This record gives sequence, C-alpha cells and structure tokens, in this order.
Amino acid sequence: MYNTIIIGAGPAGMAAALYLERSGLSCLIIDKDAPGGEMLKTDKIENYLGFDNINGADLALKMFKQIKETGVTYVYGKVTGIRKESKFTVTTETDSYQSDHVIIATGKINNKLGLDNEDKVKGISYCAVCDGSFYKNKIVGIVGAGNAAFTEALYLSSLAKQVYIINRSERIRADKIYQTKIKNKENIIYLANAIVTRINEQDNVLTSVIINDKEVLKLDGLFLAIGGKPQVDFINGLEEENGYLLVNEKMETNIKGLYAIGDVIKKDYYQIGTAINDGIVAALSIKEGEI
Ligand SMILES: Cc1cc2nc3c(=O)[nH]c(=O)nc-3n(C[C@H](O)[C@H](O)[C@H](O)COP(=O)(O)OP(=O)(O)OC[C@H]3O[C@@H](n4cnc5c(N)ncnc54)[C@H](O)[C@@H]3O)c2cc1C
Repeated sequence: MYNTIIIGAGPAGMAAALYLERSGLSCLIIDKDAPGGEMLKTDKIENYLGFDNINGADLALKMFKQIKETGVTYVYGKVTGIRKESKFTVTTETDSYQSDHVIIATGKINNKLGLDNEDKVKGISYCAVCDGSFYKNKIVGIVGAGNAAFTEALYLSSLAKQVYIINRSERIRADKIYQTKIKNKENIIYLANAIVTRINEQDNVLTSVIINDKEVLKLDGLFLAIGGKPQVDFINGLEEENGYLLVNEKMETNIKGLYAIGDVIKKDYYQIGTAINDGIVAALSIKEGEI
C-alpha cells in the first residue's frame, strides 16, 4: 500500500517521485522499460540547465540514482489497468498494487513516416527546440502542416539557412496567425502535395530526401511534426483532446486522486524541463492535500 503510484519513470515521473518521497509520502514508480523514458533516445542534451552537454542515458541514470537514494521503490512492469474503488488498484501483467493517488507519466510515442531506414539515419528529429541549434546555417525540412510543424518551422527559420515545410496534401491545419508568419519569412519554402518517399544517407547520415518518388531535396536535417500517440491505453473515461489527457493547474484529471504529467498531457511545450515541472506540481499538490 503506497500513498502514490507513479506510472512511467521518465523525467516527469522521476521528478514527482523525488518530491513525494522527500515530503514523507511513500511512492512506487513502475516502468515497462529501463528508467529514463525519451531521454534514453537522445545522445546529446544541451538545453537541460546545469549540463552544457550531457548524454540522455547519463542524465537518466543520474536522475534514477537520485530517486533510488531518496528511498523511492521502483518496479519493472507494464501497467495494464487502473481501477478505483476506495483506493486505486494498479495492475501490471504480473502484479497489482494499491495506493491513495495515481500519477500517469507514460509519455507519448511520436508518429513516424514509416520508411525503412528512418530509425537508423542520423539527422532525423522530433523536436526543433531540442535539436534546432545543431542546424545553424544549414538546410532543414519539416514534415507536417499543423501548429506544431508551423511553429517549429518558425523556430528553425531563426537558426537554419533554409527551411522547407513538407506537407503531404494541400490541407493546412495550422492557425492563420502561423500561416501569415510563415509567408513573411524569406527563408521558409512551403511545399504542398509533397510526400517524403525515401531518405537518402551517406555513412548513416541524412543527405537528402526524395519527394513523390522523383524530386531530390538536399537536406542536413529532417524534423517530423506529424503528431504523436499518448500512451494511455490502460485506462478509459479520462477527459482528453486527440488522446492527450486534460488536467487542471494542479495536474489533476477528471478522476479525483488521479493525476497526469509530462508528455501524456495536452500542453504547449514538450521538454524535459516542462515534464519535471509537471511532476513537481503534481507531487506538491498531493502533499498539500495530505497536510
Ligand atoms: C529523440 C528525442 C530527443 C529529445 N531531446 C530533448 C532535448 O534535447 N531536450 C529536452 O528538453 N527534451 C528533449 N526531448 C523531449 C523529452 O525527452 C520529453 O519531453 C520527456 O522525456 C517527456 O518526459 P515524460 O516523463 O513525460 O515521458 P517519457 O520520457 O516518454 O517517459 C515515459 C515513460 O513511461 C513508460 N511507460 C509508458 N507506458 C507504460 C506502461 N503502460 N506501463 C509502465 N510504464 C510505461 C515508458 O517506458 C517511459 O519510460 C526529446 C525527445 C525525443 C524523442
């Protein structure tokens, strides 16, 4: 029996665990993979304060060591269900655990193009704020046509020499305000009805993409802003928008005692720093309710 069960040991979940345990509330953190979440997928993090350049796995290990030394209990397991009666029961494929509160910190999976070498080639990114500075004065493409793609293109246009927005159709979902801003940027070229059909590489580094099976577009970097899938298939009945959980300013969902934090919630900025902020807010609001 724990005060709080946290599902997901990415930066959001680990921040919540640290604050809960240090405040004297017992917590259990469960993850279906190695602790660290998306941080494990990036070799260079240059925007996490206090570290000018740190490998993602190293940062994850430092965070995990800190929560373990604080006394947080960690178990490996894939959560398959949450049930609420007088307490919450969280079930994994092999066990079940009980608590007064649950925090969902399970992140999201970014959508991909579905091309063979996509996961292996260096130069493909899902986050302009994270990786944009690696492409100063270079040529980049961004796939997508929603607000995320257009705001990322604007961000990249302040760093890169040339930015191509690559939209598979003519339909633009981005707000008018971003469309106008894009038109006013000389170094952004918008391509409609353009599908990336191949990624060309040399020595495992992206060199260009093929559009519609014929045109070659020379690129140093390719950003994908084609949506993501929040990982919440273990629970129904939560308020959401396009799958992203809706929470209030205390990170509470519409179910009392159930919180959600990090990349799994609807918000404007998906970063390690913002995930940690969410985790701290959830932990402190749980503590506030216990005093
Ligand atoms: C390639 C890449 C590079 C990035 N670079 C940067 C960067 O340089 N700077 C920056 O600030 N941000 C960066 N980001 C974004 C940042 O990593 C995320 O915003 C952050 O990790 C989100 O934290 P989270 O804890 O919400 O989710 P995640 O980090 O996604 O962690 C979620 C955890 O939940 C677990 N989980 C999911 N479902 C279950 C389940 N059913 N049962 C148990 N466990 C479950 C997962 O295994 C995972 O460990 C990058 C993202 C990517 C993909």
